[in-house]
Amino acid sequence: MPKYYLVRRTNFAGFHSVHKEGCPFLQNANRCIELGEFDSSCEAIWQARGIYTNSNACIFCVKESVATNAEHLFEWNMFSTS
Ligand SMILES: [Zn+2]
Repeated sequence: MPKYYLVRRTNFAGFHSVHKEGCPFLQNANRCIELGEFDSSCEAIWQARGIYTNSNACIFCVKESVATNAEHLFEWNMFSTS
């Protein structure tokens, strides 16, 4: 499973980026929080949002998770009481 990293500093858009290992935009590892290994980027982003609520997938390396369906699912899970 790939490892995922959360950047401590916010990007130009004001979000903390979640990167997959090997991403060319991943900064020096000591500026990032290692989230661990995940089956899917969705799980990695969930983990990241437990640290910074304004975490978002890197559009370069974790682009599959920014699909509108996935975003919708995040929102739905966030507010679901079941
Ligand atoms: Zn990236």
